[in-house]
Amino acid sequence: MLDLFIKNETQKNWLQKLQDQEAEFKSKSEYHDEFSKFPKENISRLIEMGYTELTLPSAYGGGGLKTYDLALLQETLARFDGATALSIGWHMGAVGEIFEKKLWDDENLELFAKEVQKGALINRAVSEAQTGSPTRGGRPGTIAVKKDGHWVISGRKNFTTMSPVLTHFLVSAWVDEKKAIGFFLLHKDLEGLSIEETWDVISMRGTESHDLVLENVVAPNSKLVEINHGPRGAQLNGWMIHIPACYIGIAQAARDYAIQFANEYSPNSLNGPISELPNVQNLIGQIELELMQARHFLYSAAEAYDDEQRRSYITNELGAVKHTVTNSAISIVDKAMRIVGAKSLQRKNPLQRYYRDVRAGLHNPPMDDVTIQKLALTALNK
Ligand SMILES: Cc1cc2nc3c(=O)[nH]c(=O)nc-3n(C[C@H](O)[C@H](O)[C@H](O)COP(=O)(O)OP(=O)(O)OC[C@H]3O[C@@H](n4cnc5c(N)ncnc54)[C@H](O)[C@@H]3O)c2cc1C
Repeated sequence: MLDLFIKNETQKNWLQKLQDQEAEFKSKSEYHDEFSKFPKENISRLIEMGYTELTLPSAYGGGGLKTYDLALLQETLARFDGATALSIGWHMGAVGEIFEKKLWDDENLELFAKEVQKGALINRAVSEAQTGSPTRGGRPGTIAVKKDGHWVISGRKNFTTMSPVLTHFLVSAWVDEKKAIGFFLLHKDLEGLSIEETWDVISMRGTESHDLVLENVVAPNSKLVEINHGPRGAQLNGWMIHIPACYIGIAQAARDYAIQFANEYSPNSLNGPISELPNVQNLIGQIELELMQARHFLYSAAEAYDDEQRRSYITNELGAVKHTVTNSAISIVDKAMRIVGAKSLQRKNPLQRYYRDVRAGLHNPPMDDVTIQKLALTALNK
């Protein structure tokens, strides 16, 4: 199905490189999920391959890939292992956005580009227990104050995906001096910065999205890299496409499993496999339809974002894509499980992991209610 969306040799070559990792990445998913262990080996492999430099613009020595390319690669990774895809997706998306929009000053961009080429991994640490999703505009409980010409940052972040291997945290904090939310680029080895292993959830267990604890972390003036006067969620950011790409990849894996099962499972009440039954074909047809709709919408929005002329016409498409794709992914996995029947509930069966993992999509930004309300407000011209 993905072949229809491949447009050039770079995409083809990278998809082949990822394809070569399929067996290895898939073989460890069950273990990482069972023990809630981060897929460190997969991420190291991606760094060795140069994957983590791909969204760095070529002017900074990176691969210069766009959001469309990223969606293709991320959905392929997610087909192999959802936790690996969601984790590395945050890094890929963060780098893509920071450099495309030049969110930082030149010196920080130059320095960090070199770090990325050496294998640095970054993620935004924004969520907090008391603010909930930062996209709703809550003020962070984490605060930064100026002391002796340095910033001193204290607070606690939850949901810090990829915490075991991040080299850099992009931490949001309330900067009272500026009456704004600032983002601080903090290296993992800074004194006062630690990870508390709190991640105990049913979805995306391998992402080890633990708490990041900051106790009087001292950062130089220059590491206040971004100042936001409004909620970040309000800004157009095509790089968030890695989120729906992840969930459509998991849905594809569920679909592939169900198709293979339907072709092979032949109970003795039948003379052939269950794929010959109209009720099973009906479910398969519906899965194909949902996948097709979701994928066309995803790649059409990414293409519009990558085209600078068309980008200015985007209103709510990126949120709508995320809404459509994540809900379709939940529905597709559900249908795949109906095809497979009770065996889909066995703990050894990958479908039950896909079922749990796609649920996480609902709680990645933007949230469905925000997207729907924005669509209404745009239509009403409010
Ligand atoms: C697998 C996974 C990985 C993640 N990785 C990261 C990461 O790397 N970095 C990071 O910073 N975050 C991460 N997150 C966190 C995510 O972005 C959200 O912040 C988090 O899921 C909390 O969102 P929430 O909707 O549950 O919380 P809340 O915003 O507290 O919402 C809970 C409920 O209250 C309602 N609600 C709360 N406030 C409002 C409001 N103002 N208006 C209307 N309704 C409201 C919501 O509709 C919802 O029903 C991750 C989440 C998951 C599931």
